[in-house]
Amino acid sequence: MQSNEEAFSEAVSLLRSSRWTVVFTGAGVSAESGIPTFRDQLSSLWEQYDPEQLATPAAFRRDPNLVWGWYEWRRALAANARPNPAHLAIAALERYLPHLKLITQNVDDLHERAGSSHTIHLHGSLDAPRCFACARPFNQQRCVAGDTLHIPPPRCMHCNGRIRPGVVWFGEMLPRRELQSAFQAAKACDLLLSVGTSGLVYPAARIPEIARMNGAKIIHINPESAEVSGDCLLRGSAATWMPNLIAKAFL
Ligand code: NAD
Ligand code: ZN
Repeated sequence: MQSNEEAFSEAVSLLRSSRWTVVFTGAGVSAESGIPTFRDQLSSLWEQYDPEQLATPAAFRRDPNLVWGWYEWRRALAANARPNPAHLAIAALERYLPHLKLITQNVDDLHERAGSSHTIHLHGSLDAPRCFACARPFNQQRCVAGDTLHIPPPRCMHCNGRIRPGVVWFGEMLPRRELQSAFQAAKACDLLLSVGTSGLVYPAARIPEIARMNGAKIIHINPESAEVSGDCLLRGSAATWMPNLIAKAFL
């Protein structure tokens, strides 16, 4: 097993020599902005719920007020959060790696707010609600909710259907164009930096697999993940490693 020092110097030289780079992020990159991952302890309000049980079409049908309340709580968290040094470092990477593609599983907008110019969102966005019945986008102003478990979703002005969050729920298809662009980028890259993702949620988890199959090197930044043979693993937090990597590789 590589030590963190060995992994760090390997990662620095991989970054310096990369021409076609993909950064692939998951919930861990926003953890240090105060947005919990699905595996973190939640606030006392929500601790009795399993996020994976709330993030499904069946859960919305069963209890739309609870599911809408959950997403309104998450939307408020994201709205009040600020990009952390990992988001900022990823945005800064564009200056040094002109062919960089950023692919995220996150539904917050912290990459955009950090200055990343184009982000492929595989799992949608907290800020793009649409009708559960007719799928038309819902553009009306919503106020940011407080700490309430049950909030009735607004109604669609076209068909009176319930409005649902614009995220991809477990068991749903990913947006086709985004998934295609992500697979293409994974095929073409020579280096993929996987930051703060458990690699358990498919089909997004295929992205590093595709990159590896096509000969790319992979760097993981994660306090917990297990080592994959041949990959470079920096064990620890994204907000610590990302700025250090850029400083050493390019400044
Ligand atoms: P995940 O919850 O499955 O895994 C998060 C990973 O981040 C874990 O491997 C964990 O060890 C790692 N991690 C925790 N803190 C970290 C840190 N400070 N630095 C680096 N890594 C850290 O998240 P996932 O892989 O993105 O998949 C779950 C799904 O949940 C996603 O598809 C996403 O749509 C959704 N989600 C999104 C957000 C968000 O938008 N911020 C938050 C939670 C969940
Ligand atoms: Zn409708």
